[in-house]
Amino acid sequence: MQYGERCAKMDIVQYAYTIRTEGGIVMARRCVVCDKRTETGNIRSHAENKARRTWKPNLQKVRMIVKGAPVRAYVCTRCLKSGKVQRAI
Ligand SMILES: [Zn+2]
Repeated sequence: MQYGERCAKMDIVQYAYTIRTEGGIVMARRCVVCDKRTETGNIRSHAENKARRTWKPNLQKVRMIVKGAPVRAYVCTRCLKSGKVQRAI
């Protein structure tokens, strides 16, 4: 099983528990594997008007196997497609 650097530093079971107790996706909209989160920028019209906008990651709530135990957490679809997560069936 391969996880990002962030998961090597932090216990992913503890992290999944933390975001669950903080209210889940409302508190931290980010991927537990690659730490992708909401980004902000400007949308520019042809007249160069600018307005703030956000780009949110496509997060899915999945059950995955971590250290032999199933854990519920939010993972982005890119990590899911690239096989970085061992799913719990
Ligand atoms: Zn990810």
